[in-house]
Amino acid sequence: MHKAKTSSLSIYLPANSSEQASYAATELRHYLSLITGQIIEIKDSLSAPSITLLLDNAMEEDSFSIQGQQGSATIRGSKRGIIYGAYELLEQLGCRFFTATCEKIPSIPDLVLPDFDLFDKPAFEYREHNYYELIKYSRFAVKRRLNGAHHPIQEKHGGHKSYVWFVHSFEKMVDPNVYGKDHPEYFSMYNGERCIIPQKHQLCLSNPDVFNIAVENVRKALQENPGAEIISLSQNDWNKSCECPECRKKDLYYGSASGLLIEFVNKIAETLEAEFPNVTFDTLAYNYSRPIPRHIRPRHNVCVRLCSIEACFAHSFEECDDDRSVILPDGSKTDFITDLRNWGSIHDRLYIWDYTTNFNFYPAPHPNWNVLQKNMQAFHKNHVTGVFEQANGASHGGTDFNELRAYIITKLLWDPYADVQKHIREFTDYYYGDAATFVRAYIAYLCHTAEAENIHVGFLEQTDSPLYAVHHLEHLRGLITRAKETVSQDPLRLWRIGKAELSLRWIELKNKAMVNGQFDPEEMNAFFSDWRAYGLTRIEEWFSPETTYRALLHGYWRGESFYSHWSEEGAEEL
Ligand SMILES: [Zn+2]
Ligand SMILES: [Zn+2]
Repeated sequence: MHKAKTSSLSIYLPANSSEQASYAATELRHYLSLITGQIIEIKDSLSAPSITLLLDNAMEEDSFSIQGQQGSATIRGSKRGIIYGAYELLEQLGCRFFTATCEKIPSIPDLVLPDFDLFDKPAFEYREHNYYELIKYSRFAVKRRLNGAHHPIQEKHGGHKSYVWFVHSFEKMVDPNVYGKDHPEYFSMYNGERCIIPQKHQLCLSNPDVFNIAVENVRKALQENPGAEIISLSQNDWNKSCECPECRKKDLYYGSASGLLIEFVNKIAETLEAEFPNVTFDTLAYNYSRPIPRHIRPRHNVCVRLCSIEACFAHSFEECDDDRSVILPDGSKTDFITDLRNWGSIHDRLYIWDYTTNFNFYPAPHPNWNVLQKNMQAFHKNHVTGVFEQANGASHGGTDFNELRAYIITKLLWDPYADVQKHIREFTDYYYGDAATFVRAYIAYLCHTAEAENIHVGFLEQTDSPLYAVHHLEHLRGLITRAKETVSQDPLRLWRIGKAELSLRWIELKNKAMVNGQFDPEEMNAFFSDWRAYGLTRIEEWFSPETTYRALLHGYWRGESFYSHWSEEGAEEL
């Protein structure tokens, strides 16, 4: 029997180590074995050269250090930090965890560890990006150092921050199905009438009964989720607050509808603090509640999650000159960057909900590559402590180079000052092989067009935007064609470029139908067939590809508009 040589390098895992340290050891064993082609042993005694794993709960959450010389190293870290330290050591040796199925592992048969003297910690305590692979493969999310609610990371792999209700939870706090009929006064008033249409109303926060019912339901939810760190007490996904005289008076007093919301959430957080001392009570600064209030501040156990949904994503928050405002109760306007700066100046528990794709046309080439870093730095400069970057979360994550986007975003969530160009280069060189230069040229052309022509792009941008004018699409098409020619003998890379090409195919198809009235069944069938063959599902956020297809035939831009028009006549959403 032949077996590989046992490496002199071993992993020292002291007896009674934590299960997270133990996981870090097994990951090191796996990757170091791949790197060296040798058997790497985990030992409970020290024999140089070795990698020692030491849990240090006194260290800051998610932080780690790596110290080492003469071919040995010690990784010290808090619960998750020790795992992150193990991956950092591997990245220092040349490993790259690009996607769940694409990792670059160097071959170093005579590995001798270099000297280490580093300490690292994340810029944000809460890091979340719901790109498909990062919610489907939780161990990949650990490698990308995420710890948010969408990542079902087991405790032995470091666990994650657990949210109760996550978002838009007013209906859980006071259920319109339970109270709507007998107590319409619990719900928001518009034009003199109370409204209980699902998710198209808010609570009447100035009503004392609403507070009493909400407290009891929040208490119950926290009792049912004993490990919860954070609970969302947040408005519905609807853009008007209650307009009853009492609420309206409060809005004018506070100067923003966020004032009454913070008053309400503060009171719940204060009432339940003794019972749930480790829980943070989170709410949204979203749409009408985005601007800061006067005369009130969130409590220390209240977290505000500021949402950038109205912003342009082709230019950074600091640079965009488009008038994308939220209107205050006195009729004045405010933009996102002002609201970010204002919240950052009054509160130190500020989270962000940001948007990274076109939710109406998932495949649309989204020109946000140059703003990801600038915006992440703006968050960091304004004292943000947690960021959720909302992705295309549909099955297999869609097209538009979302694998690369997820890699860059997760790097930035750890370090907003990371060398993004280096990371893009490393990823594209490995993932797209010889086609990498054309992929980078595609991204550069797209972003340059948006910047040079000052084209603003929101999170629901139409595909007849000047960004997708025929001559621009032709230029991008030329780059994809050359990319395909370059990797024509490299089936894996060719497959990946073919997936990216679906973005252009969809925009061309959609615009041909909508703008020129051209419907070519052969082209349409080929697109939908290839879309499925890549394992892809939704083309837009809320609707199936079948509904999106029917919208195309019926002359609607989106499945959503098609469905809202036809649902009254009994159309089915598949
Ligand atoms: Zn009201
Ligand atoms: Zn803009």
